[in-house]
Amino acid sequence: SAAQAGLYTASDQITLLTRDNVESVLVNSTAAAVVEFYASWCGHCISFSPVYKSLARDISEWRPAVSLAAVDCAAEENRKICVDYKIRGFPSIKFFRAFSKEDSYGTNYLGFPRDISGLRHAIIDSLETHGEPWPPSCPPLEPISQAEVDVFFGTNPVQYLALIFEESRSYVGREVILDLLQFENITVRRVLRSEVGLVTKLGVTAFPSCYLYYPDGQFSRLQVSREARSFYTYVLMRLPGVLRSGKAGLISSVVITNSSAEPWRSFNRTRVYMADLESTLHYALRVELAAHSLIKGEALTSLKNYIAVLAKYFPGRSVVMNLLKSVNTWLQNQTADHISYEAFREMLDNTAQVPDAALPEGERWVGCQGSQPHFRRYPCGVWTLFHVLTVQANSAGASNPHEVLSVMRNYVKNFFGCRDCADHFETMAREGLRTVSSPPSAMLWLWSAHNRVNSRIAGALSEDPHFPKIQWPPPEMCSSCHAASSDGEHRWNTNRVLSFLSSHFSSSRILNDYLE
Ligand code: FAD
Repeated sequence: SAAQAGLYTASDQITLLTRDNVESVLVNSTAAAVVEFYASWCGHCISFSPVYKSLARDISEWRPAVSLAAVDCAAEENRKICVDYKIRGFPSIKFFRAFSKEDSYGTNYLGFPRDISGLRHAIIDSLETHGEPWPPSCPPLEPISQAEVDVFFGTNPVQYLALIFEESRSYVGREVILDLLQFENITVRRVLRSEVGLVTKLGVTAFPSCYLYYPDGQFSRLQVSREARSFYTYVLMRLPGVLRSGKAGLISSVVITNSSAEPWRSFNRTRVYMADLESTLHYALRVELAAHSLIKGEALTSLKNYIAVLAKYFPGRSVVMNLLKSVNTWLQNQTADHISYEAFREMLDNTAQVPDAALPEGERWVGCQGSQPHFRRYPCGVWTLFHVLTVQANSAGASNPHEVLSVMRNYVKNFFGCRDCADHFETMAREGLRTVSSPPSAMLWLWSAHNRVNSRIAGALSEDPHFPKIQWPPPEMCSSCHAASSDGEHRWNTNRVLSFLSSHFSSSRILNDYLE
């Protein structure tokens, strides 16, 4: 289909325009929209597409106020859209205001910047001059005055007013305002350096810098390792009481649900637990595979490879390793082109009778516990397991950098119960796995793919409100992983990320709490 032939896919956080949805996105929508009209054969479009994809991830939190869309004008079925919007050259980028009328052609970004920060600033300029009717999800972007601050808490029942002091040409304040637009209990505003009264009252000397104002009139400077957008955003999103909109109702029901479920196991959020890894194996072997009464062909090969990699790299207790080795031997001896799950389960049951070869009965989630039974658990365990395996393969000096990732890819493709997840993951693997050239780059690829998923599903219904999706690791877990370029753009220090991953997922740091 056109969507697949084009430069973007469903996993890019870019709305792919078609004849069927173009009206709902561009006409009378509550959000403004930025649309790239491109032709899939055009070289400039191809080289611009990674920038546009990164932009979509960079401003994904802004979606309720401004969404990013794209349309492939080279696709026959889209020709009418591009003619209707009078597109002459590729790529063209247009801004459509919220509540645009049917006859609006949008505003052309002529000679638009080809870098993320330039584009982001252009979008902010468009939003700030949007005029009425204003997109309802877009918070005020203009600077706040001392007079407004003085009466703020009289009319706004929030816990924090975050003030970003900055020069008038700086975009940091408006970026953070938009980053936080989906969060409750906090309002972010910018204050210009020229607002001398406030600057003096708070004793502000650095621009930019961020201060928290409380309803009782107290204030304090926000502690960040760098005075830059992503650092403010990280800290503000995670302040106690700050929640993603619409999740407050879920929170209050937690206690009730939990009392009838398993007891809560307290744990350290910065550590990996063996109980989660074993529960993941248990679920995969006893529940997920059981959905396939006959396992054959490609699926059988991927199961054999999965177990072989586990037997090789899983950093487990000896009982578990003995089980994995027996299962592996049994599977490698199956020469038919299919096995039944029943035979597989029988073998598991028999092996479990052997002293010193067993998985604990049932699942026991610790670091992957959710605040409600339908949150986290198995998918959390799958990610954790494969991060651990890429790290183990690296420290074991694996010669094939694709060994673990191709096993993960094929297991997910053939068995992972969440089929949408599997499709998205397969898309990412198809696009990016060939760049993996060494065991460390395999670790980094999985880390980065996981962050892409985190960014795409932040705020989704499946997100546990007590475990918001973030770009990981957050600065409090690894501050040197985060860096900012001179213009304040966030950068990962991938060398530091690599050493962080090596240590975080290393077998010697895995905790054995709550095992029998
Ligand atoms: P998870 O994302 O499961 O992460 C588990 C733990 O890993 C975190 O608690 C953290 O300690 C650590 N971690 C977080 N980010 C990283 C990182 N970048 N690198 C290393 N470690 C990290 N859900 C959907 O709704 N849509 C999807 O398309 C989708 N695709 C998925 C694809 C795969 C292959 C998998 C395994 C899961 C997918 N899921 C998808 C589920 C989703 O990603 C989460 O697993 C689930 O929502 C539970 O989230 P969590 O809060 O436990 O954290």
